[in-house]
Amino acid sequence: MKPLKSCCFMLTCFTFFGLYQCSFLQKEKPNPFYAEISQYSSFQPALYTQYEQLYQQNHNLIYTLNLVNHPSFLKKGDYDSFSFGEHHLFVNPYFRLKADFTPHQLEKVTLPKIHRQSEVMLIDQKTQEMYQQLFTEATSLGLELVIFSAYRSYAYQSHLYEQAKNPDYVAKPGASEHQTGCALDIATLDTGLSEYFEQTAEFHFLKDNAHRFGFILRYPKGKEHITGYPYESWHFRYVGVSIATIIYQSNLTLEEYIYQYVEII
Ligand SMILES: [Zn+2]
Repeated sequence: MKPLKSCCFMLTCFTFFGLYQCSFLQKEKPNPFYAEISQYSSFQPALYTQYEQLYQQNHNLIYTLNLVNHPSFLKKGDYDSFSFGEHHLFVNPYFRLKADFTPHQLEKVTLPKIHRQSEVMLIDQKTQEMYQQLFTEATSLGLELVIFSAYRSYAYQSHLYEQAKNPDYVAKPGASEHQTGCALDIATLDTGLSEYFEQTAEFHFLKDNAHRFGFILRYPKGKEHITGYPYESWHFRYVGVSIATIIYQSNLTLEEYIYQYVEII
């Protein structure tokens, strides 16, 4: 009996020590993924297993959170616009601006633009400042850029939408980036806003350099199913140099950038 008792005692000791060691190890080595992802405000404990699985596939915490929390982000919906980066507004057919939204810092366009009767063309102040730099470089290369459209109010967009022969080609009121004051339609006088602009040296300059000044080609060819708009070689959007550079270098749309890099709350 004695050896058995002693054996039981030893077994108990080992088990106890083993459990102690296990809990000790757990305390010493917390799950680093849990520790990190649980810091985000959109983290939902009940969805942890899904986060863990998707993170193993894409190794991007923000993207993982967005994929699990907002699986329909790139599909149709009806939501309010929201801000990203340094107060830039995300607007597309499904994330719209309110009728009473007006940008704070609008000013008159002072760079070459087309003239429409009784129109005072306005633009966001920072957007014009950065476009000025882009325009100066383009001009030094012998290129001729003309602004065809900048800020558009909700009321004016409503008017354009109602007057459109084909409403599919005109943004609904609230769904136009022009309402932010940070979107520009740029082309040459010869081509205007047409398919021919894509064949100009001006377009090629913008396509490969606009990001250096914080602008992106907002509706690229082949990504219409993501942006919700047809390809427009002339529509550029100011989002700041760092975001524009990531979008340009990774060949993303703004929608894809936000899904991968901005925590959607
Ligand atoms: Zn436009």
